[in-house]
Formats: sequence, C-alpha cells, structure tokens
Amino acid sequence: MDIIVLKQSTSQDSIDNLVKKVESKGLTVNISKGTERTVIGVIGDTSKFSDDEVNAIRSMHGVEDVMRIVKPYKLASRDFKKENTVIDVRGIKIGGNKVPVIAGPCAIEGRDILITIAQLVKQAGASFIRGGAYKPRTSPYTFQGMGEEGLEILAEAREKTGMPIVTELMDPRDLPTMLKYTDIIQIGTRNMQNFRLLLEVGSCDKPILLKRGLSATIKEWLMAAEYIMSRGNHNVILCERGIRTFETTTRNTLDLSCVPLLKQLTHLPIIVDPSHAVGRWDLVPPMSLAAVAAGTDGLIIEVHTNPEEAFSDGEQSLKPEVFSTMMKQLKPIAAAVGREI
Ligand code: PEP
Ligand code: MN
Repeated sequence: MDIIVLKQSTSQDSIDNLVKKVESKGLTVNISKGTERTVIGVIGDTSKFSDDEVNAIRSMHGVEDVMRIVKPYKLASRDFKKENTVIDVRGIKIGGNKVPVIAGPCAIEGRDILITIAQLVKQAGASFIRGGAYKPRTSPYTFQGMGEEGLEILAEAREKTGMPIVTELMDPRDLPTMLKYTDIIQIGTRNMQNFRLLLEVGSCDKPILLKRGLSATIKEWLMAAEYIMSRGNHNVILCERGIRTFETTTRNTLDLSCVPLLKQLTHLPIIVDPSHAVGRWDLVPPMSLAAVAAGTDGLIIEVHTNPEEAFSDGEQSLKPEVFSTMMKQLKPIAAAVGREI
C-alpha cells in the first residue's frame, strides 16, 4: 500500500487515526490536499503492511481507495498528485501556461559581461538569468568558476534586470553560501545521482532544477527527484539536457520524447536544455522550437556576447541577436500548442 485516497468529507479524526496506523509501522506520511481529494502518500517500506492489513484500511471510515504503486517513485508520480505542480519563483510560474526561458552564459566570467548579457536576454524576453559560479569541468586544469564572487555578480544582474537566478550547486558545503543568492538551485547532469547532495537540497526551500544524468533512464531520473522530495522539498523542475548515445556528431542526443512521456508519469514541470543536448549553436533554435511543440514547460539556453572567447561551452552558445530572433520564432509555435512565451 502506497497511496490512501480519502473521501472529501473525511474528518480530521479519521485522518489522524490513519496516520497513527501508518506511523506505528515506522513509516511516514505525506498528505496532499487537492481540490477534489485528499491523498496520503505512505513513505518507506510499504511491504510491512500485509494484504489483510491493507484491506482493513480500505474499509476504514473515510477511505475511498488504497492503491499499491508498482512504480518505485511515489511523491513524484502522477498517481500521487493529479494536478500539475506549478512553481512560483518571484512571481514567475514554471509549469503554468506560460513557457519561461532561462538564458545566460555557461559560466559567470566577470561583472560587466554578465550584466550586459543579462540585459540583452531580458530585452529579448527571457525570464531568468543563468550562469555557473561552480563549474563541473572535465579537466581540473580548466576554468572552475568564480565561486561566491560570481554569485554576487548574479545577484547584481537580478537587481538590475528583475530576473531571478538559476545557478549550479556541486558541493553540499557550498549550500549555505548558495542560499544567500540564488532563486533556483541547479543540480547538474554529473550529480544527478549524488544522493547525499540530493538529500541536502531536499531539506532547503529553494526550487531545484534537476538535470537528467548523462546516461540516466527516466526511472533513475524520477528516483533522483524522489530523493529530493522525500526530504520535504516538492519544488523540483526536471530538465532534459541530452543523453549519451552512440552518436557523436552532436554532443549528446536530445530525448524529446521524454517531455510528453513525463507529462504522463509525473506532475512535476519539465524543461529542455537544447544547448547541452546538441552542443552546436546552429542546432539550438530548431530544437528549441521542437521542444515547445512537444510541450516543454520551459527552456534553458546558453547565450554569450562573444562565444569564440567564452571560458566554457562557447560552441553551443547563441549570440544575443540569434537568441532574440529565436524568441520571436517561438511565439507562434507556443500559440499553436495552446501556450504562451
Ligand atoms: C550547465 O548548465 O552549464 C551544465 C554544466 O549543464 P549539464 O550539467 O547539463 O552538463
Ligand atoms: Mn554549459
């Protein structure tokens, strides 16, 4: 037994009774009060309940149904919560009808350049500024990011443009610093299964942008979201950023089918990062259009004023004017699928 669905009229006494029963087995509950029904999610090893005990709960006062979930993720599943999760970040909604665009350089490289890029992407219609202060680089000898100084620059860009910040956290030791600056914490592809890191960010109250692991299946990815949610933070945004396949012409392979598939499996918002998926700036606009057509809840795009000189990921970064043209092209595509950019 994993999910207990209650009738609308169920009294608080009956709910308390049920919770006590579950907790007596050493399990915990997560109660979600929706508009039409209240759902108790049972967290932990639910096999501790025998079939007879499950049937007894099913016949208790106020209980409409008891469901055993075969999927290993619960809090993240559509069975647990029917309504889409909409995450509000300083008044900008992720998961609603509008499709927000997060844009900015791969890494924060300096104050003036970041502020310039932020102003240009804002003018083009972006809603969030991105930029890494702690960079997960393949080589330890390349630029590793500006650290807290970079976060200060991001905060200044937010002040100047009004755009909230998205930036990556790699190490739980940097979390207290990160919390002072960022609005959304990005967990990068290389850390999708860094379970201790997931648990740490699960205990904070900032939304988490969870990138898909380099070779992660959809199930592994949702289990990573479940780790975060199991600690109480239910504001998780999934981000498809391409997966490793046999194909090497593009940096990764963009798995766009995961967008409509995840809409069935989970209530969490799903956004697409075409920049890291294709690794070539010229393919970013067409794949962004395709992502919006497929129903993405947002885009995250690398933009740089001088890609040739960028400290990282220049080859996949759009120049601001290309980004601006792409933003215009996205509008009719969004409208065609009942969304707005
Ligand atoms: C990034 O967003 O710059 C980044 C490093 O992304 P990923 O973790 O998807 O490679
Ligand atoms: Mn990058």
